[in-house]
Amino acid sequence: MSTHVHVRLSHGLSMSEDGELVRLSRCRCGAAWTTAYWAEEADAE
Ligand SMILES: [Zn+2]
Repeated sequence: MSTHVHVRLSHGLSMSEDGELVRLSRCRCGAAWTTAYWAEEADAE
């Protein structure tokens, strides 16, 4: 299995238990992330 660069497709927004907005992202391979919405700029590549 070769590694591939995950493509973070926007999958929507949700609210964490702490009341923070989190962005849901998912790659075609099935990997998923939950990223703090406010960290979006810091996470930009
Ligand atoms: Zn992937």
